[in-house]
Amino acid sequence: MDYRDTPEEAIFRQEVHDFIQKESPRNIMRGEGGYGGQGEAWKAWVKKLADRGWVAPAWPKEYGGAGMSVMEQFIFNWEMAEARAPRPGGIATGFAGPTLIVHGTDEQKQKYLPEILDGETVWCQGYSEPGAGSDLASLQTRAIRDGDDYVVNGQKIWTSGGHMAKWMILLARTDPEAPKHRGITYFIADMKAPGVTVRPLINAAMTHEFNEVFFEDVRIPKQNIIGEENRGWYLAQTTLSFERSNIGGAVGARQGVEDLVTLAKTSDVSTLKSNPGVKHELVDRMIEAGVATQMSLKIISIQAKEGVAPGHEASVAKLYGTELNQRIARTAMKVLGLYGQLDAKSEGVDASRFGRYKYQYLRSTANTIEGGTSEIQRNIIATRGLGLPRA
Ligand SMILES: Cc1cc2nc3c(=O)[nH]c(=O)nc-3n(C[C@H](O)[C@H](O)[C@H](O)COP(=O)(O)OP(=O)(O)OC[C@H]3O[C@@H](n4cnc5c(N)ncnc54)[C@H](O)[C@@H]3O)c2cc1C
Repeated sequence: MDYRDTPEEAIFRQEVHDFIQKESPRNIMRGEGGYGGQGEAWKAWVKKLADRGWVAPAWPKEYGGAGMSVMEQFIFNWEMAEARAPRPGGIATGFAGPTLIVHGTDEQKQKYLPEILDGETVWCQGYSEPGAGSDLASLQTRAIRDGDDYVVNGQKIWTSGGHMAKWMILLARTDPEAPKHRGITYFIADMKAPGVTVRPLINAAMTHEFNEVFFEDVRIPKQNIIGEENRGWYLAQTTLSFERSNIGGAVGARQGVEDLVTLAKTSDVSTLKSNPGVKHELVDRMIEAGVATQMSLKIISIQAKEGVAPGHEASVAKLYGTELNQRIARTAMKVLGLYGQLDAKSEGVDASRFGRYKYQYLRSTANTIEGGTSEIQRNIIATRGLGLPRA
């Protein structure tokens, strides 16, 4: 297998690389802006990306994307990750936009797509409920038709960015008599509408990322349905032709281990000398980060050459990558010893240097839950990958 770029791919990679080197702001950390960043540097960066269609590289050009092939997206994502360049997007470009492009009316496209591409409008995803997560089709939030509106009552949970969002893509039950996958409708909900209450949930890392969202007699106009009534379940699977290699995650893992090796070698607080086992753990993590990269290359080669979105292979990459994040975070705790307990606000030492590791350790627990738990990924791999029976 030849993983080298073709001459055209090499030219494109260089173009992306040069653009990032020239235009990317150095003072914005990776990840900032996922829910809509603030500040002039961020806005200027998003504008430069938007001018090239690079806010939503997979979207067709006619809707303001770049119409990139999956291989171009792969190269773009790789270079952005290598440069630790911040990106707008999230639910807006990954879920709401594609669903509107494929299933939305012209009016909906004109209203919502341009403001997604400006990188400032935050969308959130109202799928999960207290009794419906892995088994999402059990969701109970009700939407009842009343004239030209639907009246919505119910609760969503774990809603990332809900406190900053202007719009939510909302799944609600419109036909309680139908089999559970068939009675669900896909709505656009205005997060500022009367009757919507957003309550913060603070995660284990003590940060406010997600929320509970309550709907009490919230009126949603019927023109806010995407697609047809009761067909929402099928719309929720729409993703356009996204590359699914998770190369960004693989690069991030490798960089995380490289940073840790540097810390272990140079920091006064490193346990490297007192705990020789740490050395071997670092070696294991570096090898595993390499395995993650190989998995990404395998997935993109399947997707680009065979034109199919890989099923269980993407689950393998998600499972392996998120559990690797947790192992890297545990190794970091061993490298830092008691200093691993510092957070960025601790006083008296160079806590800002070490604080990220405590955060990473605590936050990485959620990696194996969000976007489908490890057990669900193992179920997919078992049945679709290994051909094992469901029950
Ligand atoms: C950081 C984070 C951000 C999130 N953001 C959002 C968001 O923006 N919008 C949104 O809608 N949701 C969001 N979620 C919710 C996420 O999608 C759910 O937490 C996830 O799908 C699991 O559902 P659950 O929490 O209800 O757990 P459950 O489905 O109740 O699972 C509980 C446990 O049982 C296991 N389990 C369940 N079913 C099976 C099975 N069939 N076989 C084996 N084991 C099983 C699970 O693996 C898990 O260990 C977020 C979650 C996290 C952690």
